[in-house]
Amino acid sequence: MVGMVAVLCYHKVGEEQAEGRWINVSPQTLASHIEFFQRRNYKVVPAASLAGKLPERSICLTFDDAYESTLANGLPVLEKLAVPAAFYAVSEYVGKDSGWDGEKAATLAGWDELKRAQKAGIEIGNHTHSHLDLSKLNQDEQVAQIEKCSWLMRERGLNPETFCIPFGKYNKETSAAIEQAGFGVGFTVEKRWAKESDDRRLLPRFAMSYGDNMPALLYKLFIRPKMLMGR
Ligand SMILES: [Zn+2]
Repeated sequence: MVGMVAVLCYHKVGEEQAEGRWINVSPQTLASHIEFFQRRNYKVVPAASLAGKLPERSICLTFDDAYESTLANGLPVLEKLAVPAAFYAVSEYVGKDSGWDGEKAATLAGWDELKRAQKAGIEIGNHTHSHLDLSKLNQDEQVAQIEKCSWLMRERGLNPETFCIPFGKYNKETSAAIEQAGFGVGFTVEKRWAKESDDRRLLPRFAMSYGDNMPALLYKLFIRPKMLMGR
């Protein structure tokens, strides 16, 4: 397990009655995931630490879109277990709802809530200005989407250190666009561990949702990747 990191991609955090099952985990499930790795002496590393040589025996916690539920129900779990994490905000939609989710749109945290989370030690990362499909944009348009988000966040006292690709969709210009916009770390979604040879701006993450109790998490992280490698 040398130089490999499992990056976990969460979205909302709440009970099923309030937030549904789609892109949501309960606070209890989130805590059980983290406690599992803590008991086994995995390090929980901040996203920004993946810029250089990858750490050993580590996981990294990321939460896309900065939903209000994530700040209300997820942040207390992270604070209680004293682990770092990154919440990825979409500058045009802060304080509104996730309009790109269509009829499943949910409330997003406002600027003040994001600042409070940053004060609590959470990285508020860059998830572009408008949550567009970057695979359909040229490099300049992608850079503009990323830089506008950084500018608006910094204007409000937030300090994004890493980047997260909307929908996990990108094209051959995306890595260069992320670099040009000043980020050494970017995340997509792919069902495997991050490894030393990976492009740090297109790092894979395991997507988590409501059904991901401990057996499902173990299957996704430890069993399925081996099957996919044909071992
Ligand atoms: Zn997103």
